[in-house]
Amino acid sequence: MRRFELALPRSIDDCLKILSERGSDAKVVAGGTDLLPQLKNGLLKPPWVIDLSGVAALRTLHNGNGHGLRIGPAVTARALELDADVRHHYPALAESAALVGSVQIRTLATVGGNLCNASPSADMAPPLLALDAEAVIVGPRGQRRVPLASFFVGVRETVLADDELLLEIAVPSPGPRSGGNYLRHTPRRELDIAVVGVASQLTLADGVCAQARIALAAVAPTPVRATAAEDALTGHAVTPAAIERAADLAVEAARPISDHRGSADFRRHLVRVLARRTLTTALARARNGRGED
Ligand SMILES: Cc1cc2nc3c(=O)[nH]c(=O)nc-3n(C[C@H](O)[C@H](O)[C@H](O)COP(=O)(O)OP(=O)(O)OC[C@H]3O[C@@H](n4cnc5c(N)ncnc54)[C@H](O)[C@@H]3O)c2cc1C
Repeated sequence: MRRFELALPRSIDDCLKILSERGSDAKVVAGGTDLLPQLKNGLLKPPWVIDLSGVAALRTLHNGNGHGLRIGPAVTARALELDADVRHHYPALAESAALVGSVQIRTLATVGGNLCNASPSADMAPPLLALDAEAVIVGPRGQRRVPLASFFVGVRETVLADDELLLEIAVPSPGPRSGGNYLRHTPRRELDIAVVGVASQLTLADGVCAQARIALAAVAPTPVRATAAEDALTGHAVTPAAIERAADLAVEAARPISDHRGSADFRRHLVRVLARRTLTTALARARNGRGED
C-alpha cells in the first residue's frame, strides 16, 4: 500500500477544513472495509486519508418518535441490525444491515460507507431508497439535501464533491400501516455480495395500497427504483395477482449484465422472485402495523 498522511479530526468542522485544504488529494475513511482493500490493491492512492472515527457526531442514531429516523453516516451495520426501533419500524433496513459481510465486518462497516462507496450491490441502499431517504450533505458551501434516488450517479460515483461529506441519512416515518422487507440472493450464505437484492415497502390506507416502493440492487450501474411496478400497486388492493403483476413489472427496471456471478436472464428471474417475496412479506407487516406511529 502506498504511504499516506493520516488526519484524525475530532469535529465535522475540522473534517471539512482538511477536505477543503486537500480536495481530491484526500479520502475519508469510516470503517475502512471498502476503502482499505482499494488502497491495498492500488485502485486508489490518496496522499491523505481522513479518519472519521474520532467524530462522535457522525455516529448518532436518532429515532424521532413518529418523525422518522436520522442516521449518522458512521453508524455501523451492526448497530442498525441490533437497534430495537430500527428492527421494529424499519425492518428492511435492519435486514439489509444484518446481511453485510460477517459480524466482524459489520462492527466496522458503516451505512455512510456503504452508500458513498456506491457499489451497485450495496445492501443498505435498496431499503433506504424504498424508504424515500434523503442524503444530508455538508461542504464549504453549506448543507444540501439530496433524495437518495438522485445520490448515485454511476458505479462508485455519487453526487458528493471532493470537499463534501455525507452528514446524515434522513428517513421519513413510513406511517403506522407500513411494512418493508429486504432479500438478496448470494451463491454463498456469508461473505458474498448480492447477485440481486430487492427491497419493498408498502403503506396501506382504507384497504388499498397508498404507497409502494420497490428498489433493486446489482441489476444496473446504480441501485434503482422499479417505478412501473410501484405505480401498478398504488391505489389498488394488494392481491396475490397484483403482487405477481408488480413483480413482472419490476423486471423492467433492471438492466443487468451477465458475469461470472450470474447471467442477465438469471438476474431478471431473481428480480421477479425476490420482488414477489418481499412484497408479500411487506404486505403482511403493513397489515400488522409494523410502521412508525
Ligand atoms: C469481507 C467483506 C464482505 C463484505 N460484504 C458486504 C455485503 O455483504 N454487502 C455489502 O453491501 N457490502 C459488503 N462489503 C463492503 C463494505 O463492508 C460495505 O460497503 C461497508 O458498509 C462500507 O462501510 P465502511 O465504513 O467500511 O466504508 P469505508 O471503507 O470507510 O468507506 C467507503 C467509501 O465511502 C466513503 N465515505 C465513508 N464515509 C463517508 C462520509 N461520511 N462522507 C463521504 N464519504 C464517505 C469513503 O471515502 C470511501 O470512498 C463487504 C466488505 C468486505 C471486506
